[in-house]
Amino acid sequence: MRITGIAAEKVSVPLKEPFVISLAAITSAEMVFVRIDTDEGIMGFGEGAGIGFVTGETTDTVLGAIDAFRPALVGANPFAIEDHHRAMDRILVGNGAAKAAVDLALYDIMGKASHLPVYQFLGGACGDVEIDHTIGLGTPEEMAAKAARLVAEGYRQIKVKAGADEAEDRAAILLIRAAAPQAHIKVDANQGWTPSQALGMIKTYVEAGVEALEQPVPFWDRDGLAFVRSRSPIPIMADESCFTPHDASDLVRRQAADVINIKLMKCGGIYPALQINAVAQAAGVRCMVGCMLESRLGIAAGAHLVASRANIIYADLDSFRDFDDSTVISSGFDFQVPLIRLRDDPGLGVSMLDW
Ligand code: MG
Repeated sequence: MRITGIAAEKVSVPLKEPFVISLAAITSAEMVFVRIDTDEGIMGFGEGAGIGFVTGETTDTVLGAIDAFRPALVGANPFAIEDHHRAMDRILVGNGAAKAAVDLALYDIMGKASHLPVYQFLGGACGDVEIDHTIGLGTPEEMAAKAARLVAEGYRQIKVKAGADEAEDRAAILLIRAAAPQAHIKVDANQGWTPSQALGMIKTYVEAGVEALEQPVPFWDRDGLAFVRSRSPIPIMADESCFTPHDASDLVRRQAADVINIKLMKCGGIYPALQINAVAQAAGVRCMVGCMLESRLGIAAGAHLVASRANIIYADLDSFRDFDDSTVISSGFDFQVPLIRLRDDPGLGVSMLDW
């Protein structure tokens, strides 16, 4: 089988409501969809959804990167996935969302050609993936009301944003705990604190029974992350501090994280994500798969990854609920709160409506 062409187009979809985190307020989901054609008539679909202030990418840079990758990919065997990542890495460093768009489309092709859903192609047994739902920043009362709504909807795991205002963060988590007494709660500070601020905040999070604390300090401060972890009774998760398998290896050596948040858009797709998980697993570090603001295509890919590896214990794959992508793509998976149920369709199970 040979790759005969790669098409890409950018799409913007407004969010149902603005998503506020300590770094910014976001009002729309911006993504690039990719279609890879083959000489056997099998098409693969992928998605690249970077967030500029995290991945350094925009939809225009993703389109430009895919233009740069195209000559190295067209004519090649889509199953040669390691070769394709080496080729993309030789052309452009970073650019995880653009590489993920290509990688996802290649896995879609490999699954379809093998007549297997991607999670089975990767060795997974069960296509049910429990997800959490994230509560963005707001007033403590708004955040607690949302927690109550989520629990009533059937969610058992909640992720709470923090890191903009310590007093508000403290008030919010205590109200959320009161509103959702049984919920499993993770907190994500999105780099909002210094190490000593983080240690101060952790006292309240212990009181509130928080199960994991994500990226308390700036992405570049891995010593700070290790310092917090060494003194925290709550497991510490690395997100913005870990893009690549090399980052994962460095975090493991510094003993800086109990959990690594893998995002396909940071690392460049399923192939490098599996490497990150392998590095983590070998060191006794668990993983979560998170998301940027992907549609059900990127979310399906994340769910296939989660379903393929027991070391990935959390799925923070909720962005598809923040906007309506039904004018752009179809199917992908069934969703019954809190379960994503992958179907047995071969590949990622997602189609573009216009292509
Ligand atoms: Mg995060």
